[in-house]
Amino acid sequence: MRLRLRLAPLLLLLLAAPLVAAFSSRARRRDFRALTDSQIAAVATLPPAEWDAVDTGHLAHLLVPRVSGSENNTLVQAYLSSVFTKLGWHEDKDNFKQQTPLGEIEFTNLIYTFDPDAPRKLVLSAHFDSKWFKEGGFIGATDSSAPCATLIDVAEALTPLLQKRKERLAAGTPLLSAGHDEEDAAQTTLQIIFFDGEEAFHEWTDTDSVYGSRHLAEKWDAEYLPPSHDFVRRRLNPRPTVLDTVDVLVLLDLLGAPRPSITSYYRDTDWMFLELAATDDKLRAAGLVESGLKPQWFSKYFGFQGGGIDDDHRPFLHKGVPILHLITSPFPAVWHRMSDNKDALDLAVLRRWNRIMRVWTAGYLGLAADDGAPPPGTETPRNNASPRSTTDELVRP
Ligand SMILES: [Zn+2]
Repeated sequence: MRLRLRLAPLLLLLLAAPLVAAFSSRARRRDFRALTDSQIAAVATLPPAEWDAVDTGHLAHLLVPRVSGSENNTLVQAYLSSVFTKLGWHEDKDNFKQQTPLGEIEFTNLIYTFDPDAPRKLVLSAHFDSKWFKEGGFIGATDSSAPCATLIDVAEALTPLLQKRKERLAAGTPLLSAGHDEEDAAQTTLQIIFFDGEEAFHEWTDTDSVYGSRHLAEKWDAEYLPPSHDFVRRRLNPRPTVLDTVDVLVLLDLLGAPRPSITSYYRDTDWMFLELAATDDKLRAAGLVESGLKPQWFSKYFGFQGGGIDDDHRPFLHKGVPILHLITSPFPAVWHRMSDNKDALDLAVLRRWNRIMRVWTAGYLGLAADDGAPPPGTETPRNNASPRSTTDELVRP
């Protein structure tokens, strides 16, 4: 069970955050380049194709009980590793043993980075373990098989765009256009973290929960950047650590069931939340999400709400890392019930999440922003070309 953070400690935290993380590696608003309508259509429809069922493809491998330390957990790790190795991403495994109410358990966080040499990172994350129940058999389709599968979809869709940009930069032929510098945009890479050990084994407490993210946040907080790193040249004291390279940690959890309701919890990332809401609005306006779904998923009219739900972001939040927490509140009705299986997932909802995250991430990374597509205001009609041919235009050097 998760505890809702009390407001007072959180306010204290927010006040303290600038003190502990005075260094400004945080995402700048100008880094985000909202895509044009034609670019949105192109990125939304990039390969791989839309999922055709809630329990095939990647989800087939993730919809299994996968308690930390279990054989299935290891099998899921191997699957994630095979997917990202095939994509050519750098893999780091954060492997450790820790005491739990069930005794000592081995945990492994999986960290995938497109360009490990980039000085900054947009981090997308979700937990891949499932909750332990004495009777066994709990799957946790929304918690968090579906969010993990969405992260894979984003990686698969955007890897070719990242790769093409890398090749252009290596060849000294970056795309140049007013207001967009590919070399600058490529300073921020995409990193995807699959956390192990999010779930409590007994009752959710500060120590019986988020085993993986606590370990990784501690580890990165103690890992100083090399002298050659751009951040070290700009600030000697306090010495920048790996945590300083994280623009924002985006955490997806409890997603995939119908009618999500997503809130903005943190003032410093509220603008990113609003860009997500705007991305979803544009996808719906363009007919790029299926009809019949709850129209508005993001509580954008109320703005930044404060508060917060305890989850894997806690250890990073406490160390001053900006957080965007994409979790539905109230939780899905199936939360921590055996019914949180494939039947809890809605295919149209999953497809919409994939498209939102693809387009938002591309905008954040400055991908496909000006890659041969017409500038804003001069787009050709949306149905003028097939999405595929628009895509080809986008990635052509
Ligand atoms: Zn859970």
